[in-house]
Amino acid sequence: MNFQTKLFLSALAAASLALAVAGVRFSTSMRSQANARIDETLVAEVRLAAELLEQGARQNSGSTPPSIAALDAEADRIGTLVGARVTFIAADGRVVGDSAEPLDNLSSMENHASRPEVVAAHQSGLGRAQRWSATLNIEMLYIAAPVQHPAMATVRLALPLTDVRHQLRTVLTATLTALGLALVGGAVIALFFARRIGHRVRGIAGVAQRYRGGDLTPSHLDYGDDELGTVARALDESVQELGRRLEELARDRARMKAILTGMIEGVIVVDPQGRLQLANEAAQEMLRLDDLALARHYLETIRHPAIADLITDALAGQTPESVQLSPPRDASRTIMARAAPMATTGPNGAVLVLHDITDLKRADQVRRDFVANVSHELRTPLTAIRGYVEALSEGESDPEETRRFLAIILRHALLMERLVKDLLRLARLDARQEPIDIAACDTRAFVQSVVADVAPALEARQQRVEITVAPGAATIRIDPAKLHDALRNLLVNASTYAPERSTVTVDAAADGDTAVLSVSDEGPGIPEEDLSRIFERFYRVDKSRGRDPGGTGLGLAIVKHLIELHGGNVRAENRREGGARFIVTLKHAASRT
Ligand code: ADP
Repeated sequence: MNFQTKLFLSALAAASLALAVAGVRFSTSMRSQANARIDETLVAEVRLAAELLEQGARQNSGSTPPSIAALDAEADRIGTLVGARVTFIAADGRVVGDSAEPLDNLSSMENHASRPEVVAAHQSGLGRAQRWSATLNIEMLYIAAPVQHPAMATVRLALPLTDVRHQLRTVLTATLTALGLALVGGAVIALFFARRIGHRVRGIAGVAQRYRGGDLTPSHLDYGDDELGTVARALDESVQELGRRLEELARDRARMKAILTGMIEGVIVVDPQGRLQLANEAAQEMLRLDDLALARHYLETIRHPAIADLITDALAGQTPESVQLSPPRDASRTIMARAAPMATTGPNGAVLVLHDITDLKRADQVRRDFVANVSHELRTPLTAIRGYVEALSEGESDPEETRRFLAIILRHALLMERLVKDLLRLARLDARQEPIDIAACDTRAFVQSVVADVAPALEARQQRVEITVAPGAATIRIDPAKLHDALRNLLVNASTYAPERSTVTVDAAADGDTAVLSVSDEGPGIPEEDLSRIFERFYRVDKSRGRDPGGTGLGLAIVKHLIELHGGNVRAENRREGGARFIVTLKHAASRT
């Protein structure tokens, strides 16, 4: 049964009950009022009849008392006038006139002296009774009053109760008809209001249903101003407020997820029961976590003992010291792991943050090696200079020896100067303090200018330089000053390590818009295992160190830097026919014009 029907039925029941109660009350009061009125009328009529009879008797005083026939005729006359049965009763109880009985029957009528209304009339001046009439054989209402008359002592009026009841039924029927009409009207009104409220309740239920389905777009339904409306509005506002909070939460979550995804640090979150809540991509990659068992115990996913210890401590509410560890199956990387308890309202969860410090450690090692190398490189010439200066200061050497000592001191001082210059250059390149300035150059002229720069060294060793420029590489786009330094370094090396009277070849070629410059010599070449390392700072191939050609060991490191500034790369290889070849590849440097 729906709300509207229930509402209608209860309103109808209430109206029916109220109308039934009102009907019963009204009909009983109507009935008693009608009774009273009939009674009053009869009393007035009996008194009037008595008065008329007394008046008639007074007027006829002195004459013979009227005959029974006259009395009966008088009874009939008054009976017709008042519309009721009229009976005259003599003092001894004989009936001397009756409007309902013919004259002949009067003598056979029962003595009326003991009738209750007659007895009461003589005792209190008015008698009243209701009883079955033996004479008329119907139930009657009797009212009797005493009368001062020579022929009678009591006058009595009687009205059949069926008349009284008929009058009452008329009143009752009218009342019931009115009540029935009222009930129909009430039902119509109840139906109207039930439908209106039912319609509103259905509207509100529809909105609630939509909200429950997850669609929280605000409703434009008019909830009304009564209590129902107030409740619906209050609930609606609460739902909207909740919706806003949910949206905010979702936004926060998304933001959090974006931050965690974008982080370089690995983040792992574990709940108070040790269940894995979150492991961002960085953490998964660092710890090589292939299948993430979220919401399961973290040990099912992360089995690293050091991490397990950290998380255990953090779950116990402590903040353990950070730990360095290597990820599983990769000893070359170092990860710094830090754990902390995560305070929530209840027991602690734990957050683990992972930082890959491999590069930091490597950089730190490189820096330390570099400082050691620099110190070592400087100590050699300094020791030599100091030794020869000490020998000179003793003043025991001859002029020839003195000159030789001074030449050695100068050589080492020059080496130190070169070393410091190279170091400063590298420092500038590292700090990106040398901006690149690209220009189009004629390749052959450019190479010739570098060769001219190295000419003294080449001539000293009677070496020749051969230059070939392929047609596509006639012009190259480079920073001329920087590539000049790079090419000069390569030419100096070629001259240094190749034998005297050998030939050094410089080739320029193009592959699409990529320019390829190579410097080849006829020297001993470079051992295969050293090929990848000769571009490191201070790296020298051992056997050439034995010859000590006076290099700083920084030349190729500078070359690499300068070429990389051009966005290119440089590598070394051994030629099949003997000797080393350095190949410089420069992208977008060749132009076909
Ligand atoms: P250096 O100042 O010692 O020449 P570089 O960085 O220029 O330092 O070269 C590093 C090492 O590479 C050299 O010590 C040398 O052993 C090797 N090397 C460089 N160029 C050649 C070459 N053309 N032939 C053989 N070995 C070479």
